Amino acid sequence: MRLRDRTALITAAGQGIGRATALRFAAEGAHVIATDIDADKLSDLSSSDGIDIRSLDVLDSKAVDALASELPPVNVLFNCAGFVASGSLLDGSDSDWELSLALNVTAMMRMTRALLPGMIEHGGGSIINMASVASSLKGVPNRCAYGTTKAAVIGLTKSIAADYIGHGIRCNAICPGTVDSPSLRQRIRDQAHRQGRTEAAVHAEFLARQPLGRLGTAEEIAALATYLAADESAYTTGTAQVIDGGWLI
Ligand code: NAD
Repeated sequence: MRLRDRTALITAAGQGIGRATALRFAAEGAHVIATDIDADKLSDLSSSDGIDIRSLDVLDSKAVDALASELPPVNVLFNCAGFVASGSLLDGSDSDWELSLALNVTAMMRMTRALLPGMIEHGGGSIINMASVASSLKGVPNRCAYGTTKAAVIGLTKSIAADYIGHGIRCNAICPGTVDSPSLRQRIRDQAHRQGRTEAAVHAEFLARQPLGRLGTAEEIAALATYLAADESAYTTGTAQVIDGGWLI
């Protein structure tokens, strides 16, 4: 029970990495507030011990502030919400660029800004920000807006870590490679459709960039998030934790 007596808020907990982390945190004894824009995706989580569900669009700053003001003190914040826009600089759209900045960066900053004072007041906490290997760590084709915003997440993470280390706040980023999740499956379907190829062919391309020969699992990322949330990582802050099946080798 590595997270006994901790309250953890997770954004985008309806599916994929956020959901796996909500289940793992709860199994480790945390009280989890699992949030997502899509309440339907959260509904079956409420039957799990230790998980409360709340509908939350992280782009809605008023809703973010309102939720923060009514919560018990939060010890762990996992900012998991993010959006993958495809496209290079010349073929990405302005709307994808704007949504990527708003969701992947600005919403993360606002969520953290809303919860940080309470964390400081209650003696500290651990903030975990979802970045990606596609960021300042690695240039990935056709991920211009995505890579730009995930690089910004690493900058935001280091800034928070530097400014609040004296208040007991730790802040780390997780940088996964390719992780099997519902949105990845959807991207594979969309790309296959757009390019007139089979889903198997597109899937094989995603696999080929992972030297370990397989995609990561949401549970593997949840295990790293659990480590970063727990006291065993007490000496770790301001880091970008790579978990990428060897993509960066
Ligand atoms: P996903 O993309 O399958 O699910 C995303 C969840 O976010 C959904 O439940 C959706 O309802 C929710 N969501 C969307 N907009 C929201 C909003 N405005 N407010 C609140 N919730 C919202 O999950 P995933 O693939 O596990 O990705 C989760 C995070 O991990 C993202 O930040 C993503 O960039 C990052 N990541 C994923 C991979 C991967 O290969 N899957 C790799 C690196 C990083």
